[in-house]
Amino acid sequence: MAGTDRRTVLKLAAASAALAACSPAVRVSEKHVAVIGGGIIGASIAYHLTKAGMKVTLLERGKLAERASRGTFAWINATWAKQPRAYHAFNQDGLLGWHRLQSDLGIPVRWGGSLEWFETDTRQARLAEQIAEQVEWGEPAEMIEPEALRELEGKVDFTGVEQAAYSPNDGAVDPVLATEMLVAAAIELGATVQENCSVERVTPNANGQSVLQTQCGDLAVDKFVLATGADPEATARLAGLDIPQRSTPGVIVVTTPQPRLINRIIVAPGVHIHQRDDGRIVLGEQDGAPDTAAHMERLRDRPNRFPEQVFADQHAMRILSIAEQYVPGMLDADVEDVFIGWRPLPLDGHPVLGTSPANPTAYLAIMHSGVSLAPIVGEVVAQEISMGVAAEVLAPYRPGRDFAEVRRY
Ligand SMILES: Cc1cc2nc3c(=O)[nH]c(=O)nc-3n(C[C@H](O)[C@H](O)[C@H](O)COP(=O)(O)OP(=O)(O)OC[C@H]3O[C@@H](n4cnc5c(N)ncnc54)[C@H](O)[C@@H]3O)c2cc1C
Repeated sequence: MAGTDRRTVLKLAAASAALAACSPAVRVSEKHVAVIGGGIIGASIAYHLTKAGMKVTLLERGKLAERASRGTFAWINATWAKQPRAYHAFNQDGLLGWHRLQSDLGIPVRWGGSLEWFETDTRQARLAEQIAEQVEWGEPAEMIEPEALRELEGKVDFTGVEQAAYSPNDGAVDPVLATEMLVAAAIELGATVQENCSVERVTPNANGQSVLQTQCGDLAVDKFVLATGADPEATARLAGLDIPQRSTPGVIVVTTPQPRLINRIIVAPGVHIHQRDDGRIVLGEQDGAPDTAAHMERLRDRPNRFPEQVFADQHAMRILSIAEQYVPGMLDADVEDVFIGWRPLPLDGHPVLGTSPANPTAYLAIMHSGVSLAPIVGEVVAQEISMGVAAEVLAPYRPGRDFAEVRRY
């Protein structure tokens, strides 16, 4: 395959975005691509592939966005945690991609930035260094003082905070709505979408295609994309390649709609908080599950719900009480949803994007930070598959790499 540099791929993506914004997709290939998984990643890939003129079928085991893309905090960012620089730049491209989706499809994105701080002086000093690195890498981030913090967020209690990192480019979405809008746009452009359709097995046929054996019948395709999220054995079973994952759970609490309390993403010790356009406040806990044998056993099947409502209520109250320290106005907020999300987290912390070395018709798309990355991943994967090019920007994320070195994501 010929190499294509990142700038070229992005130019091509921007050109095809402009084209699709004003015309329905023109089928440029009769090659049939199935996208397996109707989370935000599968939805974005299906949309961009259809827009690129491919024949696309999206297959989802349950309902759209019912796994990680529902139990996510949905903060769109390229923060200090996105290491090294190339991965940071990829996330910056993700942010730009959200601006394109917002203007092309009208997907609501709440921009305004994030405010982040830690408890200890040592960690705060490290944060200041990390923000200096961010600035070098092109982020307009800065450390700001209490007076400026209060000007930005008058209803947040910053008691004891001497400085916080302000990253003005960040935003947040309603991930379920965004997924549904991407899928609706794909259907509009000609994609077929089948929910309640689990792909169970893949076998080759005599034409060099893969036959997907699904709960809703067999489907022969020229290529399939596995956007199956945090399912540890899906890639081995369906693409012949075991991707080591260290998926971790996180509890997400969503309140009923509240009057406007905050405008930015608050990344405070113990909890992440943002308020959607519809007034709902989203809380992401920062403590992981206790590292005990009993918990391991309970979490073995990666449940999205607590076994009993009483436990869900307890966890919601615990997380709400941390959040209320910072946003006292949410004291009376009722809880609408408590969900345990599982991060699709390849062992080294980076996305897995590319053709399986074990099956040339299988393309893998498994990643954490998938909300930040969904637009750029959709654009570049669609370019690779529809044009048969290898995008240089994806070189660090190929499935055949050595996963031993753990990085931050
Ligand atoms: C607690 C938490 C907080 C997070 N916070 C952020 C954040 O702030 N910012 C950010 O950018 N990212 C965040 N993430 C990560 C982000 O949410 C994920 O990277 C993203 O949602 C992954 O999307 P996906 O489509 O790959 O996976 P999913 O949404 O899990 O979708 C995979 C889909 O595949 C389907 N599927 C699986 N197997 C089959 C099969 N055999 N046949 C058919 N369908 C199948 C599943 O049913 C599922 O719907 C967070 C994640 C969690 C859990």
